[in-house]
Amino acid sequence: MNVGFIGLGIMGRPMAEHILRSGHRLTVFNRTPDKCAPLVAQGASPADSPAALASTCDIIITMLPDTPDVEAVLFGATGVWQELTPGKVIIDMSTISPAATINFANRLAEKNCEMLDAPVSGGQSGAQAATLTIMVGGKPEIFENCKPLFEAMGKNVFHLGPIGSGQKTKLVNQVICALNIVAMSEGLHLAKLAELDVQQAHKVVSSGAAGSWMLDNLAPRILQDDFKPGFMIKLQQKDLRLAHEFIKTIGADFPGTALTLSMFTKAVEQGLGEQGTQGFINLYRNSESEFRG
Ligand code: NAD
Repeated sequence: MNVGFIGLGIMGRPMAEHILRSGHRLTVFNRTPDKCAPLVAQGASPADSPAALASTCDIIITMLPDTPDVEAVLFGATGVWQELTPGKVIIDMSTISPAATINFANRLAEKNCEMLDAPVSGGQSGAQAATLTIMVGGKPEIFENCKPLFEAMGKNVFHLGPIGSGQKTKLVNQVICALNIVAMSEGLHLAKLAELDVQQAHKVVSSGAAGSWMLDNLAPRILQDDFKPGFMIKLQQKDLRLAHEFIKTIGADFPGTALTLSMFTKAVEQGLGEQGTQGFINLYRNSESEFRG
């Protein structure tokens, strides 16, 4: 298959590498062209624009930050749309709005092109190890055709229903992850304020009912004051915003999500947005007196 990959950031680069290694011809595009170089060195072809990429590819994968980025890449002046011919398939693996996803799929259908939404979970390490969980929405037959690509990037690949189902499932995932980040940060900061040995407290609570992916994967970085991003706080804030908007559209009221969104928004306002989500604990460290009351 001729595959195109747009968005070679923390996640996109290792995901694109797995596609290349699984034997597909790969064309790449990124807004910052330097990010294409490692892929080109491994045999990928660079494209000058999303439109140029679309002219040579049957399947076009996007892995971009947010809804407006995906819209610009698909439908902008030099977007994929300009070179779309019938039968091409767009797979958006970014985390974006479910409603916008359905809108994009309807627009692409005007050119007889199909779309799958396929957001992922598993973080930078999951992308590097090709062990991502991939949550796919769209027509079953299109999913089956694209399955080998998903299996090159992930270990747990699920078809969840019509277009938008992947994004809705991802929002469920992100609500659970974000509330877990708050729980982990609050617990570890409590251990510090209680003058406990924080390393030991982490070890103890990880082995009991409080154990979690966050405690296993993010807490060790907190203990080393390593705030380098695997998943940036500003992207987690974006996902909470998407979840909050979606929850409102179904007429529900989720106070945990609303509070967590306001806390992540505050973290972004404090300049923590480009830290990894483990840096959320700095909200507590920066505001110790405020949280103490
Ligand atoms: P990132 O910021 O590292 O990568 C995004 C890439 O897209 C960058 O290379 C950027 O230059 C490029 N880009 C942005 N706008 C563009 C445009 N208009 N045209 C071409 N390229 C453009 O972000 P990331 O961490 O790789 O996340 C990407 C998506 O995956 C986000 O939706 C995020 O929420 C989701 N996600 C991230 C993680 C994680 O752990 N990092 C995990 C699961 C899902």
